Amino acid sequence: MRKIIHIDMDSFFASVEQRDFPQYRGKPVAVGHRGPRSVVAAASYEARKYGVHSAMPMTAALRKCPELIVMPHRFEVYKKVSASIRDIFYEYTELVEPLSLDEAYLDVTHPKKGPPSASLIAMEIKNEIRNRENLVASAGVSFNKFLAKIASDMDKPDGFYLIKPEEAEQFLEELEIKKFFGVGEKTAQKMHRLNIFKGRDLKALPRYRLVSNFGKAGNYFYDVVRGIDNRPVVSYQESKSIGAERTYDTDLYELEQVEARLSEVMDIMWRRCEAKKKFGKTATLKLRFSDFSTITRSKSQQDPFVYQEMKEVVRELLPVQRIQQQGVRLLGVTMSNFPVEKKKPASRQIEIDFESGAE
Ligand SMILES: [Mg+2]
Repeated sequence: MRKIIHIDMDSFFASVEQRDFPQYRGKPVAVGHRGPRSVVAAASYEARKYGVHSAMPMTAALRKCPELIVMPHRFEVYKKVSASIRDIFYEYTELVEPLSLDEAYLDVTHPKKGPPSASLIAMEIKNEIRNRENLVASAGVSFNKFLAKIASDMDKPDGFYLIKPEEAEQFLEELEIKKFFGVGEKTAQKMHRLNIFKGRDLKALPRYRLVSNFGKAGNYFYDVVRGIDNRPVVSYQESKSIGAERTYDTDLYELEQVEARLSEVMDIMWRRCEAKKKFGKTATLKLRFSDFSTITRSKSQQDPFVYQEMKEVVRELLPVQRIQQQGVRLLGVTMSNFPVEKKKPASRQIEIDFESGAE
């Protein structure tokens, strides 16, 4: 049985601003700017009480809360804090998988140090983050990534939540469907139309019906509602991957535009792979939206990608709907999981691994 912790900083960007500018503590703060197209990148808990939340247009946020303090983002500072928090994680385990600047999975099945339980390690990490960075994090603990991620959201802010193996199925049966990681607003609406409101409704449907309604995600839903998620915590190490990324001056909303830009980024990355004669078995797409939320999606296969295959696979990872709704400011592609030795390719098996991280 694995021991997985998901750490999620509470209202990260806004909390850093309130930490560094004490005059704004206890006040409604949003990170972003006041432009007509601007969206809220992060909202303090005081602002959330007015109904302000991240990804909301700033104009709407100011309507809800006219006294909202709008602070410009300082990404260099957030990155520094993020690196410092990651250093804390690495003291406990090398298996750290960041989802964004403020979120990461840790596999502490065999920790390098610390108390003898994942829960106590999670508490210790929360304390260390508070001591070193004067910031508050929430932790979720369970035996896989799916449950740990849900757990970290159960008790925010300053949360701690443990889902034990023997509790998982009942917990999931009672969980609102929109709380399932991977169920966005559109999917939730579709589920509601199918009379799926809680985990138990989802669990009542056979696999083939979920697949016919939700495609590949149907398989994922069938498994996770049973507490099954075997995805490993993958630590990305710079030297073990080759990538390229580009940030755009204006956000891209047109799918055709995104595909064309993505194709360029893939070509840049591929030239780097060719230069190093390294071709990976995992392709990862990274997208940053106009509200600065960032997602990565990967696909792995048994033997290294060839050019055309890589291009098709990465294009398929694009979250089409979300792009049209939110707009893209950064595109990145990475190859990793390079073969260690040359082996005869066995039967081909493709598995999908999807991740999503927001503010
Ligand atoms: Mg967070």
